[in-house]
Amino acid sequence: MKEQLIFDLSRSGRKGYSLSPLDIPERPADELLPSKFLRKEPAELPEMPESEVVRHFVRLSNLNYHVDKNMYPLGSCTMKYNPKINDYTCDLPGFASMHPMQPESTSQGALQLMYELAEMLKEIAGMKAVTLQPAAGAHGELTGILLIKKYHEKLGNKRHKLLVVDSAHGTNPASAALGGYECVSVKCDASGCTDMDDLRAKLDGEVAALMLTNPNTVGIFEKQIPEIEKLVHGNGSLLYMDGANMNALLGITRPGDMGFDVMHYNLHKSFSAPHGGGGPGSGPVGVSDRLVEFLPVPVVEKYEENGETRYRLNGGKPDTIGRMMNFYGNFSVLVRAYTYIRMLGADGLRRVSENAIINANYLLQRLVEHYALPYPRPVMHEFCLSGDRQKKEHGVRTLDIAKRLLDYGYHAPTVYFPLIVSEALMIEPTETEAKETLDAFADAMIAIAEEAKNTPEVILAAPQTTPVKRLDEAQASRQLNICCSL
Ligand SMILES: *Cc1c(COP(=O)(O)O)cnc(C)c1O
Repeated sequence: MKEQLIFDLSRSGRKGYSLSPLDIPERPADELLPSKFLRKEPAELPEMPESEVVRHFVRLSNLNYHVDKNMYPLGSCTMKYNPKINDYTCDLPGFASMHPMQPESTSQGALQLMYELAEMLKEIAGMKAVTLQPAAGAHGELTGILLIKKYHEKLGNKRHKLLVVDSAHGTNPASAALGGYECVSVKCDASGCTDMDDLRAKLDGEVAALMLTNPNTVGIFEKQIPEIEKLVHGNGSLLYMDGANMNALLGITRPGDMGFDVMHYNLHKSFSAPHGGGGPGSGPVGVSDRLVEFLPVPVVEKYEENGETRYRLNGGKPDTIGRMMNFYGNFSVLVRAYTYIRMLGADGLRRVSENAIINANYLLQRLVEHYALPYPRPVMHEFCLSGDRQKKEHGVRTLDIAKRLLDYGYHAPTVYFPLIVSEALMIEPTETEAKETLDAFADAMIAIAEEAKNTPEVILAAPQTTPVKRLDEAQASRQLNICCSL
């Protein structure tokens, strides 16, 4: 990796700006600000001309992999292309220059946007109310779990278990534990759906709720929802749906209509905000009637005053779980999601899901002869292959296949997850990829399956074309050192 740090590229006295001469008398800094607030030493900022700054960051962006470069089939992450108009609206000065401490009277546009976005999300998922506060999917899960807890507390129920199906996303058990619950795993059956006998056996009077990811992490729609709903509600428990994969359901079916009491959305996935670098995200939570009174405060409300529609923040909800975040959530992501939904409309949203589903099924059909498929069924937005065959027959593991894909110019799929699939390769093409792109990716995967048979050493030595070669991933997580100037 040849690119130097921006601090090493810095040369004293170089600059990227020019200002006209001062036409007022210059005053010493300590006349303008109390001296206790002034720096003792100048900030150590890099000094560079604009051209060098631009080139440095363009070179860095070329070292990186991103959705603007090529397909990013990272399963369960919905790395679709994000339309640039979302960033345009988010950068409008009226939004970008706002301060969260601004009074309601000068924040009416932002409040209206939040109110309307929550209304649209309610409609999309058939929920009774939505909070926009949580900052990511997992944060939405924790919010949902705290709502469930409050619901049972208010009824005087002592229930300390959450059931989580083992095809659920890994954040589900983690959130259950963070919410103070004992997490009990429910198996999935040979078809990839919840094992109903195991569910019946584990659903006792201690269970506060069942958490289900739908479509689940092997890309399969849980077909026994009506039966599950009856069982769970009949037991006095609530039903949580992990709705991070809404790009498979938009305009086709609604969790609220299926009887779910609480779900989170991932705006940064399904509703298109860039999230490859880890954030910011947004994980709104939708609830059924049972949970509305417990939602976090403040709640954005619409009212009429002197014949005019106005918006306000209401913090006066006696049964609320409180705040889940300072201020009102990650507002910039809300603006992007609002733009995305308004640009597409109801028909466009349905096409999103239709394309996500057909893309996943097309790609699956192209690959199914070459890799093992543990759950041979039509899928929703993603599918999960197994590298078992390559491992057993040629000594090439899923990790090696993922590394080799980098040489072919692709980001790797999600690997070794879900845990119920050995040597898992979880692939989510998303709806934004054209047939030619899907074909090119399939060709690369097939070429790697051939290499596994003929020249496995090439795969074992991959990647060769990336800025850094194979990293020790265990060391990276055990001895994290992100400081460059060692
Ligand atoms: C991504 C994802 C999550 C977690 O969302 P974050 O925003 O990464 O916290 C939860 N569940 C599912 C199914 C997901 O795909």
